Amino acid sequence: MSHLALRQVTKQFGSVKVLHGVDLDVRDGEFVVFVGPSGCGKSTLLRIIAGLEDASSGEIHLDDRQVNDVSAADRGLAMVFQSYALYPHMSVRQNLAFGLENSRMPKTEIEARVMEAARMLLIEPLLNRKPGQLSGGQRQRVAIGRAIVRRPGIFLLDEPLSNLDAELRVVMRAELAALHKRLAATMIYVTHDQTEAMTLADRIVVLRDGRVEQVGTPLELYNKPANRFVAGFIGSPR
Ligand code: ADP
Ligand code: MG
Repeated sequence: MSHLALRQVTKQFGSVKVLHGVDLDVRDGEFVVFVGPSGCGKSTLLRIIAGLEDASSGEIHLDDRQVNDVSAADRGLAMVFQSYALYPHMSVRQNLAFGLENSRMPKTEIEARVMEAARMLLIEPLLNRKPGQLSGGQRQRVAIGRAIVRRPGIFLLDEPLSNLDAELRVVMRAELAALHKRLAATMIYVTHDQTEAMTLADRIVVLRDGRVEQVGTPLELYNKPANRFVAGFIGSPR
């Protein structure tokens, strides 16, 4: 488990400012969900936390250490993408092990972690298949498994369920909630789906045009939305 602090994080692409000074504290073990309309900066913020993108200004702190100049690989985080990003020519087992194989980890330890993740995600019977032989839900489980084997302090998930059909999304949502409890991990989760946000989050961060509109528990946001935008987005009656 890790905690995270963002201090006045901004991001500019050329002359376009897409994040305008984001402040945020995420506690150890917390499940925080970023919501907001398409283009509001959710993915950019997640990529800055991951170290895949540099902030234009501001600070990122992980476990009380400033990590602005720490590489993605050394931040101890793992990201799960919307697009799964599995290697099509590799088996599920190889996909799960891939990120660990350059790390000088003993083979037995890699195998143990792969098996543990596979059991947790109920994909043990699929270990020898290729991604092309899997359903969407199974592929998404492998993508999550690839993050789990790394035992990150924080999981970053960018709309991980948005390519699944509605029925499967409900199943996977429940599995993610269970996984969060079981791993006792910190999770930062991006979605534009209100139901996902309301059911998964300890706290929701509502973003709009690169600014934090409100942060609170689902109930707080529902009962006391700061403005019409939040109310509209959370589906509260105000
Ligand atoms: P979201 O994930 O909330 O849909 P993004 O973080 O992907 O939003 O994008 C926020 C804004 O930044 C958008 O206007 C997008 O076009 C812009 N943007 C994102 N990445 C880049 C990039 N690499 N170069 C230029 N503009 C970008
Ligand atoms: Mg996005």
